[in-house]
Amino acid sequence: MNCQNSKCNEQIQYNSIISGTQITCDNCSNAFYCSIKCRDFDWEGYHQLVCNGLFEIVPKLTVSQLDDEMNLIGKGSFGMVYLKQLNGYNFAIKKINKNIAYRELKIHKQLKHKYIIQLLQFIDKDDHLYLIQEYAKNGHLTTNMQIDPKQIIIQLCNALQYLHNKGIIHRDIKPTNVLLSDKNNVKLCDFGLATQKDVISNFSGTYEFMAPEILKNYPQSYSLDIWSLGCLLYWMIEKKPIISGTEEEMIEQILNFTEPKFTMTDQYAKDLIIKMLDPEPNKRITLNEIIQHPYITRESQNNLKNEENSNSYSYETQASYQQQQIAPKNHQEDINVFKRIVSLFSCMGRDK
Ligand code: ATP
Repeated sequence: MNCQNSKCNEQIQYNSIISGTQITCDNCSNAFYCSIKCRDFDWEGYHQLVCNGLFEIVPKLTVSQLDDEMNLIGKGSFGMVYLKQLNGYNFAIKKINKNIAYRELKIHKQLKHKYIIQLLQFIDKDDHLYLIQEYAKNGHLTTNMQIDPKQIIIQLCNALQYLHNKGIIHRDIKPTNVLLSDKNNVKLCDFGLATQKDVISNFSGTYEFMAPEILKNYPQSYSLDIWSLGCLLYWMIEKKPIISGTEEEMIEQILNFTEPKFTMTDQYAKDLIIKMLDPEPNKRITLNEIIQHPYITRESQNNLKNEENSNSYSYETQASYQQQQIAPKNHQEDINVFKRIVSLFSCMGRDK
């Protein structure tokens, strides 16, 4: 059997086929590869267009089965999430009030991507909508500290590229919305605050991961997901949020955002985070640039000689970063404006 990446076409090792350890597509069992690199290459170029997914063979739930035993596995601001087992399959079922479920359903049902939780079915029952989803076995980032931040960022960039190409901004990238499959691959969830317009301006998100343009009520675009991604990378490496404190303190920190405080020693990681957290959305690094950044592309951290002593890279970046700062305005005024905006959106920006 040959590798299905047409650019490779190498013979797949016989031993791996016999032992069942050969590399297949994550979503179906029809495509075989000689390496993970070939699998990912083929997915990008071709296979995602034809992949049937395992999901087409999973059983459909009926309304009456919703009354059977379900275990609560997650509780968000908008919905309860239950684990349901049926015919050997695991499902995550998000129960959500019908009045606020419309946007989430409309956006989520268009999506099919290996790093995004698959919506399999939805059931309309009484006042609620039940979103039947693929189950992410390894929980979310907060419950799983054995993660490789670089891998998470690569996979999230991949998922965000897919969303942004469809005109969708997620607007709520944060650790509890980044789930992990049994193979520890990213499964992005929760499209409750997502939007599908090129430019949108209203309130959304979680302070710790919220971009300044949201607080300033400036037009929001795809780059606000990059801000949250930068906060997430910081959180994964530093093991604490970049923005913290009381609500008022967090608003203040976002509006008056300058250079983050780092304890990490990896200069490449710092440089990337600074570029992701440019308060000026138009100057913020793009997804394509993130993927090509040395933090992602370098072969090995060990190749970095005298990383700590060499300041040229970071100084250069810090200098350009400082020039790009938005001059601090009257923050009390900004906070007051922001509070008025929040009071207008009492359900945290979720559209009905
Ligand atoms: P939020 O308060 O972040 O807006 P929410 O009400 O929109 O939350 P979700 O974020 O969709 O709800 O889910 C809440 C939690 O439920 C997640 O953090 C996760 O722990 C769990 N969860 C959700 N979907 C799944 C899934 N498909 N597989 C496994 N766990 C899940």
